[in-house]
This record gives sequence, structure tokens and C-alpha cells, in this order.
Amino acid sequence: MRVAVFSTKDYTRNYFARINARFRHELVFLEPRLDAETARLADGFPAVCVFVNDHVDAETLERLYAGGTRLVALRCAGYNNVDLAAAERLGMRVVRVPAYSPHSVAEHTVALMLALNRRVHRAFNRVREGNFALDGLVGFELRSRTVGVVGTGRIGAAVVDILSGFGSDVLAYDVQPNDAVAARGARYVPLEELLAESDVVTLHCPLLPATHHLIDAEAVQRLKRGVMLINTSRGGLVDTPAVIEGLKSGRIGSLGLDVYEEEEALFFEDLSGQLLQDDVFARLLTFPNVVITGHQAFLTEEALTAIAETTLANIAQVERGEACANTVGSAPVPAGRQVN
Ligand code: NAD
Repeated sequence: MRVAVFSTKDYTRNYFARINARFRHELVFLEPRLDAETARLADGFPAVCVFVNDHVDAETLERLYAGGTRLVALRCAGYNNVDLAAAERLGMRVVRVPAYSPHSVAEHTVALMLALNRRVHRAFNRVREGNFALDGLVGFELRSRTVGVVGTGRIGAAVVDILSGFGSDVLAYDVQPNDAVAARGARYVPLEELLAESDVVTLHCPLLPATHHLIDAEAVQRLKRGVMLINTSRGGLVDTPAVIEGLKSGRIGSLGLDVYEEEEALFFEDLSGQLLQDDVFARLLTFPNVVITGHQAFLTEEALTAIAETTLANIAQVERGEACANTVGSAPVPAGRQVN
């Protein structure tokens, strides 16, 4: 099928082009993000391929439809950026990649924990400056600490596995507790107890109305003093100004983020030549006990391969007129398993 691939980066092109040798779709890689303005670039393409920050709202879908597009292939799990009602009204198919190496995100989560805990970001800079002093670099062993995992789906469960290997005491919270996770030694407790008892809290639930600002000012007050907070899930789970207050008061001892509520204006682009306009993000960058990565937890060879394979297979199935299990909308995701 002829596919306009929006928001293309080198890593997208490399993996999609290589794996497409088997599928033989006609892929045209485009750098711009998809929105109502750029939709005309897909004129004449029966399919578009999009990523997390493309704007697939009603206006964009209508413009795509007018240009002949009938398939939106998301190369990610989340579909919160797609107006599914508009797609259904227009009769356009939406497919996605529901799972691709949860271990990639889980390992990055633990990388943030270890970097913060052992002050790797500070040590790296000091040594480069010829400063070998160790003051301020005292860490702690994860082996002897309590880690609270909020959301124990695919990624949360993989985090529990890694932490169990470290010997951490793992507390878990999920609206749908998972027996297999409990069997690995995690103890399910109410959220309030998890927040109060954990030395490290890591978020792995989807962004839903029920989880929006799960960590707000009230939750920050419930946290154990000096806690490490990690969010590799979605920025909207955290009320950033409340967390900044928590950092200033010392309630939050350290913060590791791979996602940020307003990341759309920042992430995935090289803005190093521009002035940072987001004052909240700028404030986060001033803390020595904050490490932020730009939504890269998924970025491994394994995950990129799986994303390309599933996306291209989804498109092939739709092209052949077959049912595609990864269709969004007509194949509803079980409650509590929705990924954003
Ligand atoms: P999943 O669907 O397998 O698991 C999500 C879990 O959250 C489920 O067990 C569900 O029951 C639970 N949950 C739902 N509502 C909840 C609530 N109110 N409170 C507590 N738990 C709740 O999803 P996954 O594959 O493990 O992905 C988790 C999240 O990771 C995704 O939603 C996505 O936002 C994020 N993610 C981030 C990256 C990245 O690169 N940073 C990549 C992929 C996914």
C-alpha cells in the first residue's frame, strides 16, 4: 500500500525501510508532523502512518479523507491523539501497535532510578571537570528499599521483575491486580498505603480521566519524605507544579521523568538553538536531583523492530481486506488495559 509516513526521524526511516523489504509497501517518509495543515501532503495516499504527537483530530481526518486516505496506522500503542469518533463517522480504519517490548520501557525506568540514586548525572559532569570529590553523591541500595509500582500491566510487571532481582520490597497498586505479579513477590496495597510506604514510586498506568494528575498536591503530601518519583508513562499523570513544590520542600527527594504533560511542544525535536519558552519545564531543569529524558524509554533496537513489523503487518492485513486484531475502535481494548 502507498503510505505517507509522518513525523519521520532517521531511526523511523532506518527500521521501517529495512523491515519493509519483506512487506513491499510504498513508503514515503515525511518530516512534518501530521495536522490539518500538513494533511494535504498525504493527498492520493490510501494510508498514513503517524506517531504519538501527530494531531489526528476531526479536521485532520476530514482533510485526509478528502485526499483519499482511508487508513491511519499508528506506530505506537496510544491513540489519545486520534479522534476515533470522527474516524468512525468517516469510515476510516485506525490500527496501532498495542505492545512492543515492555522491557525497553521497564529497563529505562530502572536506568532513571539508578542514575538518580547513584547521582550518575552529577558524577559524569564532575569527573569531566576534573572534580573527583564525592560530597553529595551518597546513594542507597535498591536491595533494601521499598519500591511502589503503580499500574502492573505489561511494563509495570516487567519493572516488578527487575526490582525483584534487585531484592527490593515491591508494593503494587492496580485497579486490576495481576496474580502473576503477586506471585513474583509484589504485594498489592491501596494507593494511599503505597504512596506513604514507598522509598521509590514509579508510574505505569495509562493516562485516563481517572489517572489524570494522579500525583497532585494532595498525593505529594501523602508521599514518604525524600521519596524518588519516576514517571515513564504519560506526563498527564503528574501535576508538574505540585511536584515542583514537593521538590522545593524536600518531600520529593528526586524525580526521574521520560514524559512531560506539555512535551508536545518540546520533545523529539532539536531545540538547542532556541530559547526555552516553557517556564515550568525550565524550573524542573534547575534541580540537581531531577533527571529528564525526552520520551526515549521505548527507543531500543528491539522495540523499533517490533513497532515497524507490527505496523507494516497491520497495513498489509487491511490492504488484503482481512480482519486486523490491532484495529482501534471496532476491536475494543478490555477495560483497564487501554494504553494511551
Ligand atoms: P498495560 O495496558 O499493559 O498496563 C496498564 C496497567 O494500568 C493495567 O494493568 C491497568 O489495569 C492499570 N490501570 C488502569 N487504570 C489504572 C488506575 N486508575 N490506577 C492504577 N492502575 C491502573 O500498559 P503498558 O503496556 O504496561 O503501558 C503502560 C503505560 O506506559 C502506557 O499507558 C503508556 O502511557 C506508557 N508508555 C510509555 C512509553 C515511553 O516510551 N515512555 C512507551 C510505551 C508505553
